[in-house]
Amino acid sequence: MSEIVLNLMKIKDSLSKSCTLVAVSKTKPIKDIEQAYNSGHRDFGENKVQELAEKAGYLPKDIRWHFIGHLQRNKVKYIIPFIHLIHGVDSLRLLNEINKRAKNENKIIHCLLQVHIAEEDTKFGFNKPELLDMIQQDNFKELENVQINGLMGMATYTADQDQIRREFKSLRRLFEELRASDNKLKMKTLSMGMSGDYLAALEEGSNMIRIGSAIFGERN
Ligand SMILES: *Cc1c(COP(=O)(O)O)cnc(C)c1O
Repeated sequence: MSEIVLNLMKIKDSLSKSCTLVAVSKTKPIKDIEQAYNSGHRDFGENKVQELAEKAGYLPKDIRWHFIGHLQRNKVKYIIPFIHLIHGVDSLRLLNEINKRAKNENKIIHCLLQVHIAEEDTKFGFNKPELLDMIQQDNFKELENVQINGLMGMATYTADQDQIRREFKSLRRLFEELRASDNKLKMKTLSMGMSGDYLAALEEGSNMIRIGSAIFGERN
């Protein structure tokens, strides 16, 4: 068995059935993805539109592609025909564009709202007041071709485990709060955890982890 498949199996075995493992294949060649695919894996994540569209064109159509990067509005149209889930939605303008393109194709596109939980201010995403404000807006309520299925967040890149925990906890708390309140969001997916911090994320309630280097090896 290849290294990639062994890594994948090891991580999958440690997960509960209700947790989805997104294998993040960005920068990795088609043949690496095929190895994982041939072992039965179907959920893959990419963060660049062009790379994703090229790979999706080559690879089997039953792959569930996750877009995990920062999505620019002018590129939305390229992924709408095949995307399974867009993780990084961080503005109402982007949602409007996704809605428009989805409508053209007669589709409902599933999205996660990205929440800024890290200390670094370079990361994208809503803060809590912004998110709460957006979901109250009529424009948001009127979107018919997007379905918000949950939240996505990235913790600070740090060795401080307590800080990582705190950040994941804050996302979990917001997730539960939104789930309990009256709105048009379907809070079922909580996407948090990467190679370096997914064990902490799982303990804090994640049900979707996005793992790249721990499966495919370090990226250049
Ligand atoms: C690259 C990336 C990952 C995977 O990172 P690893 O540390 O290689 O597991 C997860 N989420 C996002 C948003 C990414 O860009």
